[in-house]
Amino acid sequence: MLSRCRWLFSAITAAVLAVGSATAQTPVKAVASFSILGDMVQAIGGSRVSVTTLVGPDGDAHVFQPAPGDAKAVADAKVVFVNGLGFEGWMERLAQSAGFKGQVMVATQGIKPNKMKDEDDAHGHAQGTDAKKDEHEKIDPHAWQDLRNGLVYADNIAAGLIAADPAGAETYKANAAAYKKQLQELDAWVKAEIGAVAKAKRRVITSHDAFGYFGSAYGVTFLAPVGVSTDAEPSAKGVAALIRQIKQQKIKALFVENITNPKLVEQIGKETGVKLGGALYSDALSKPDGPAGTYIKMFRNNVPLLKAAMLGN
Ligand SMILES: [Zn+2]
Repeated sequence: MLSRCRWLFSAITAAVLAVGSATAQTPVKAVASFSILGDMVQAIGGSRVSVTTLVGPDGDAHVFQPAPGDAKAVADAKVVFVNGLGFEGWMERLAQSAGFKGQVMVATQGIKPNKMKDEDDAHGHAQGTDAKKDEHEKIDPHAWQDLRNGLVYADNIAAGLIAADPAGAETYKANAAAYKKQLQELDAWVKAEIGAVAKAKRRVITSHDAFGYFGSAYGVTFLAPVGVSTDAEPSAKGVAALIRQIKQQKIKALFVENITNPKLVEQIGKETGVKLGGALYSDALSKPDGPAGTYIKMFRNNVPLLKAAMLGN
């Protein structure tokens, strides 16, 4: 009798514990530096994680200036995710001023970074001066635009979440595996869509050099009046060279980006007689109900626009 009672008691205890662990976990507080990364962290963290994104929809992380609220979010976080590769030059100081003692996880860890090469001189940048040469040796931070890199982001995010919340390891691993499967399918779709455009037509003008990784991965040449960071002013000489190139090569695919002032590209459109192909999402998502509310939707938005415009080249 006693042993039966004991058995019943431990069975009830086990049931209560199981229900408790499934419902009453306080979400792990994570901070992501920008919206694209924030979406990926949320996708892999699921309901175990609450994500605060510092640079929100349509925001430009290159030139972001943190506010006091951002320091508070970082101070409260268990784990902070950044892109790295020089994208968030402001993060180190922010983490310091917030007194953040946790781990800053770099999502691009293990990715081979693209550097701006000399042949990009042909892409409308001014040539010759040492300053410009230095700019060409800058590391390109926009690694997320290649979906194979997205797989690395997913693994790094999962590792960061597991370090912050070991009890959720199985959940994070399962979520990351499911997410990576979606990214692989998306990657195949992007390859097929872009592959349907003749190679000679695959030339696109955007505001700044945000699509270098996309270009290498999917075989598109992107040209831009502004380099890999938006904090540099385009040179008049560079813009003039780009306009000449657009006319010579009869490029019709001309895009503004959601994060940059459209004026320069609009002016290029006016001077070349090329109609704008719409807005590409480069460094930030749209608002959740917009056309590029997630990392995956960003590709679903950009790729058909790119394809349609390139077919007109
Ligand atoms: Zn950028």
